[in-house]
Amino acid sequence: EVVVLRLGHRPGRDDRMTTHVALTARALGADRAVLVGDTSQARETVADITDRFGGPFDVTVTDAYRPILREWEGSVVHLTMYGEPVEAVTPTIRERHRSEPLLIVVGAGKVDFEVYDRADWNVGVTNQPHSEVAALAVFLDRLFDGAELDREWVDADRRVIPQETGKRVEEID
Ligand code: SAM
Repeated sequence: EVVVLRLGHRPGRDDRMTTHVALTARALGADRAVLVGDTSQARETVADITDRFGGPFDVTVTDAYRPILREWEGSVVHLTMYGEPVEAVTPTIRERHRSEPLLIVVGAGKVDFEVYDRADWNVGVTNQPHSEVAALAVFLDRLFDGAELDREWVDADRRVIPQETGKRVEEID
């Protein structure tokens, strides 16, 4: 199991980013996302996309991240510009993930030091400041080695048929 934990949501300001973290988690192969704070709007948007475009993908909202970190039985990756290079550590993380679940933590505002401390790996997608959405996308693609790009979606009521130009969407009965 791969779970994305999104910390530090600032109401209003982070609504779209939190939604995009969860949509990216879903599209690129994570099994579920846990959104901390006042994030029910983001949860609804992602649940709606999953209803229409398929799953399985689960998204939940929680008030506090500490119990999740404390009770997590598996390994923890924290994505941060201060971490070790993704290209150096991902093979080891992938190997460990064969035998245990993986929690991937991303932040929004300042991330408490205890998260750095709890993480089995603090991972940087470059050591440049950018975005949790971009960092998550690159990390998941490295973790799954591209296999996430080609998967079956279950219980979708529509499917996009790729086109050289234009848009084609097929209804599924
Ligand atoms: N200023 C915050 C801090 O010092 O913790 C980070 C803010 S950044 C806009 C939001 C999130 O994007 C971070 O918590 C981290 O998860 C992710 N992020 C940004 N740049 C990253 C990088 N180069 N590698 C990995 N994650 C990154």
